[in-house]
Amino acid sequence: MPTNGLSWYFLECFVGENWLAAGTALSQKPPPKRGLMKTVSPTRYDGVWLAGGRLPISADPPLSRLVKGVERVASIRTEIALTAKVATMPPVEVVPYIWTRERVLICGRVTALRQSDGAYFGVQIPAPTALCTDHAAVRALLVHEFAHWFYIATRVVNGSESREKEGGTLDLRNEGLVESDTQINARDWFGEEDARRFIQHGDSTTRSISSQVVGLEEHFYVVSPRLGDTVGNIDISDDVKAHIRSLRTQRAH
Ligand SMILES: [Zn+2]
Repeated sequence: MPTNGLSWYFLECFVGENWLAAGTALSQKPPPKRGLMKTVSPTRYDGVWLAGGRLPISADPPLSRLVKGVERVASIRTEIALTAKVATMPPVEVVPYIWTRERVLICGRVTALRQSDGAYFGVQIPAPTALCTDHAAVRALLVHEFAHWFYIATRVVNGSESREKEGGTLDLRNEGLVESDTQINARDWFGEEDARRFIQHGDSTTRSISSQVVGLEEHFYVVSPRLGDTVGNIDISDDVKAHIRSLRTQRAH
């Protein structure tokens, strides 16, 4: 096992946006035909990619728009990095589905992403977030999810370095952590603007993601992502490790 690839468990996080509050509702009827059109995954930017999946057959397939959305997410991720205190942002996977849970639109989460050589923690966002043209909403959502990822990275690095040897398993399932426990301090990690605009769940900043979702249910299946524990490795770059160590040293003085 690589020294930065630690197995562990994490309760997934969701930024939800309430349908009713946003005054929007998806039609409950299923898409006209259950299609088997498989999405290809030609889009792979540095650290941002589109996952495969199934789309309903529609007259106006949204794949090219989704690919543009993936490009937009990649450029927003780059912008966040430009002012952040570290150069490397977490990986982001876009999935071609609409996620809901009890009438709440799920805008993003931190979870283990399947990759060819295993599962690695990263940020996953559904189609409505990638397609949302409100730059500030998508940026705030990404910063929120990145904050969870940096929390995980911090626990992994500090945990492994406080022991004699690197490696091992970190299990957060029984710590009774609430949402706000699983974030880093935004000012320690992000640029001034992103820290100032840091959002928590239910913030109106992300409302445009749910208002722009209307009509998308013709093009994407509406599914509930599986909730609960997940396990994976985490690939932490050297600049992020160095930042975690420097924050630890600051705290110790
Ligand atoms: Zn959260």
